Amino acid sequence: MAIGARAARRCAAALLLLFVLTLLRDAARLDRFLGRSPPLLPLAPGIYNTSGAPLPHKINVHIVPHTHDDVGWLKTVDQYYVGSNNSIQIAAVQYIIDSVIQSLEDNPDRKFIYVEQAFFQRWWREQTPAKQKIVHQMVESGQLEFVNGAWCMHDEAGASYIDMIDQTTLGHRFIKSQFNKMPRIGWQIDPFGHSAVQAYLLGAEVGFDGLFFARADYQDIAKRRATRGMEFVWQGSRTLSSSSQIFGGILANHYSPPEGMNFDFKSNDPLIQDNPLLYDYNLQERIDLFVKRAQEQSEQFRSNHIMWTMGQDFNYEQANTWFKQLDKLVHYMNKDGRINVFYSTPSIYVDSKNTANITWPLKTEDFFPYANCSHCYWTGYFSSRLALKGYVRRLSAYLMAARQLEFAVGRNFSADNTDSLEDALAILQHHDAVTGTEQQHVANDYAKRLATGASKAAKVMEVAISVLTASSSALNTATNWFVPIWERLTSSKYLSVLPKGISGRSALSFDQCLLLNISYCPPSEAQLEDGTSLVVVLYNTLGWSRKEMVRIPVSSTRLQVRDSTGNAIPSQLIPLDSVTKKLKEIYVKAYTGNSSSNDDVYTLVFKASVPPLGFNSYFISASNGAHGCASLSSFKNHESPREVFSSKTKLKFSSSGQLQQFTDRKSGIVSAVKLSYCWYNSSDGVTEEARGQSSGAYVFRPNSSSCYPVDSKEMVSSYIKGSLVEEVHQTFSSWVFQVLRLYKDAQYAEIEYTIGPVPVNSSDAGKEIVTRISTDLESEKIFYTDSNGRDFLKRVRDFRSDWELNATEPISGNYYPINLGIYLQENNTEFSVLVDRAIGGSSLKDGDVELMVQRRLLHDDHRGVQEALNETICIDSNECEGLTVRGKFLLGLHSTQESARWRRNQGQRLYSPLEMFFSKLSSSTGKIGNPTFSATESGYELPQNIAIITLQEMQNGDVLLRLAHLYEAGEDIELSTVVRVDLQKIFGLRQVASVVELNLSANQERASMKPLQWQLDPNVEDAAAVHVRGPLLKPGDRHIDIAPMEIRTLLVTFG
Ligand SMILES: [Zn+2]
Repeated sequence: MAIGARAARRCAAALLLLFVLTLLRDAARLDRFLGRSPPLLPLAPGIYNTSGAPLPHKINVHIVPHTHDDVGWLKTVDQYYVGSNNSIQIAAVQYIIDSVIQSLEDNPDRKFIYVEQAFFQRWWREQTPAKQKIVHQMVESGQLEFVNGAWCMHDEAGASYIDMIDQTTLGHRFIKSQFNKMPRIGWQIDPFGHSAVQAYLLGAEVGFDGLFFARADYQDIAKRRATRGMEFVWQGSRTLSSSSQIFGGILANHYSPPEGMNFDFKSNDPLIQDNPLLYDYNLQERIDLFVKRAQEQSEQFRSNHIMWTMGQDFNYEQANTWFKQLDKLVHYMNKDGRINVFYSTPSIYVDSKNTANITWPLKTEDFFPYANCSHCYWTGYFSSRLALKGYVRRLSAYLMAARQLEFAVGRNFSADNTDSLEDALAILQHHDAVTGTEQQHVANDYAKRLATGASKAAKVMEVAISVLTASSSALNTATNWFVPIWERLTSSKYLSVLPKGISGRSALSFDQCLLLNISYCPPSEAQLEDGTSLVVVLYNTLGWSRKEMVRIPVSSTRLQVRDSTGNAIPSQLIPLDSVTKKLKEIYVKAYTGNSSSNDDVYTLVFKASVPPLGFNSYFISASNGAHGCASLSSFKNHESPREVFSSKTKLKFSSSGQLQQFTDRKSGIVSAVKLSYCWYNSSDGVTEEARGQSSGAYVFRPNSSSCYPVDSKEMVSSYIKGSLVEEVHQTFSSWVFQVLRLYKDAQYAEIEYTIGPVPVNSSDAGKEIVTRISTDLESEKIFYTDSNGRDFLKRVRDFRSDWELNATEPISGNYYPINLGIYLQENNTEFSVLVDRAIGGSSLKDGDVELMVQRRLLHDDHRGVQEALNETICIDSNECEGLTVRGKFLLGLHSTQESARWRRNQGQRLYSPLEMFFSKLSSSTGKIGNPTFSATESGYELPQNIAIITLQEMQNGDVLLRLAHLYEAGEDIELSTVVRVDLQKIFGLRQVASVVELNLSANQERASMKPLQWQLDPNVEDAAAVHVRGPLLKPGDRHIDIAPMEIRTLLVTFG
């Protein structure tokens, strides 16, 4: 068949074009050959030399492949793991790990680090023994290294040190048990600011050799880049000083690869095309860029070692796209020869820095607050989702109590135990969880996890209380307190005393109430028929006995309270205020689906006395006569007292009902103290002079320095007078309500605030509500805030000790995270505010303390969450209103001699409220078998400066015990001293067989820790300041000497 003339012409033209293109290509190829010598010819496909190690006289680039996997943020932790909900974000951790392991198998030179054990342990449990064996070998050879190794990469602003330790221990325990490895590096690459406690406690005391992060103030980073100060020796504790240092480093390129070098399948950065036959051949161009990037970076760092963090959020789902490029990069860079490049890990990098024999600058204190541009202070998240923050803090103490009681009766591995709450709380410490910077559906998922964990822990505790309160003759509790319940179950001796549902035999069964902050508690609110009584068991997790007021919702006005010896004790009844009634109605319906039908509710107040690590029982019954009957206080409406007294404190009010003056009667110190609420108008990012930054979940940016008062109308007060507590209820507006409480013997005032629903309309950007407490202390710009609830750090308004601050945000640039408290000082006087949850605050004027108590925002702040922080509560999906937040803070005015003691002691009580258990007894005069109990040897209490922060039964029945000295050096004249604890007496009659001292995360013996030594710059002033350490515990020791701010971790085995 002949071809047509037109077709033939077309064919000739095509051949000509091909010829021309071939010539052009060959010319380009020739150019390349002439352009550079030696030529960078590729090897046969797939064969690249990827071996390598540091070289002494070259710039050494440590290639560190990594992925940053948030334990919940835009998707829930489950969705991230399995890879569902990809319309929100393409991220699937299971495939990331699958894929990375395959790539590591393909080339043994490749390395990878993995961080979040909340994900890794899930993946691990899904693998075959054969795959596990391969991964084992990778870990053993150092190809795969766990860094950080905690359950998540915790937040450093709103997490308490106890929770940080716990979640790190959980991850480290998994790694130790499966791989017998101890992570060497702290890897906090994404949290929004970095705490002193992270450096010394969760860094040095854990046994890390280095700590890396990405986010520090942009002005700080600029100075550090210019002065080669990006890496330093970080000494986070003033008290432990040079005995607790760590090598710290701010990563060069955030935690990303250098610009233009991201090879993830989701990236658009150009690939290395090394085949000269490709039209897009770019090898030399790429290598030149890589060399340039390395040279630039090395100018900002000391020694000839630099690190490239090759990865980003949820990278390596198709690990091959990364590793194929990295193999080429290593091969060609080394062939080029200007720079030495090799696969590495942060531990290899730190070792290289350590052996470089050079000196380092010293960093003290912390990296708060964090700003990444002049109007972008990430100080909003200190107060984002305050209700969730409150829930986390409450359950942190709840877990502590549950673990103690779980140990008391013996751990049950197959039924309800504390593992689920431990897991949930660990996840909640993630830097997009407790921070409040997650999407709403993720916040809901987090809350659900907490609730599920709490309900399981509740069962553990309720069973334990049932067993421990049962007849002491049957249980012989004094000697058997630690006999596991499951042992008891098999013994007929105990069957008669176990609660229903366990043995079918009768014993008291107990309930708890977790909605006590809105006065909801069905077991205590139930009407008491004649002849019955309500048993209230109060459990104390502290190692000291405590006497304090308890508050219980009840529904009768004729009640009497008896102690465990049967004597009636004074009690007071307070009618429920209308604000709480309304809250209760809405929130009970929203949480439980049921109506809280009981309108007639009162709060019963009495003073309880509870032994250390133990409980006491109180009995409430109907009272017929006046004798011993609870006294009913009634509201004096529209009235405020001019003075309110306790034996130690006096409060004065103005004629309009405002708190005016605070007197500490003990020291005679008097100060003006005024309380007000106001709100900042959030920036919308459009109308301000400097555009582009709105206030959001992360960033706090008010649109002016004005704080608008909420008490625009006359404040309404009512007043309760009584023998145990006096309360002034103040309504500042329809959405701001406060109760000021003064208990009979209290040397402080308690404030309970209720904020919401915060009114906003669609034209608003949002409101950020603060409470301002104004005193007349001349604090001279100085205030003190805690680091994760532990050390107090000095803050100076509009000042940073590390660089000359250009103060561009006078309000938000002075905000700091608070977990325990904030205080001001003038001469011999201190004014302190203690908080019940993580919160943001400042002192913006001398004498003032300010706390941000609610945020309702209508704009996203462009940091990725893509939602406005506009929390609502819905009864059904269309009946919603803005969320109301209720919280507490305590005000104390003390002499300097007494102030720290109050903060430390009261701080522990605030953290660990008495846990309440309720049961019904069918006799109004009846008693329970064992109404009081203490785990410690009779009469033994821990010293006032020591707190038990962990008492947890391990798999094999051993106990992990952590004892924390609560005082800093010089904080208290008597209590800032080394103190001795008797370990045998903590455990009463249970015989301690051995005690081994461990590092903070309990994965190695403290005696075997060998911290790296670092040399400081010669101009650094006396960094090795005086510090005291308690001696290491020796085998056979039953006493431990603990120095100020030490936390000692012990593994106790019983005989
Ligand atoms: Zn993150």
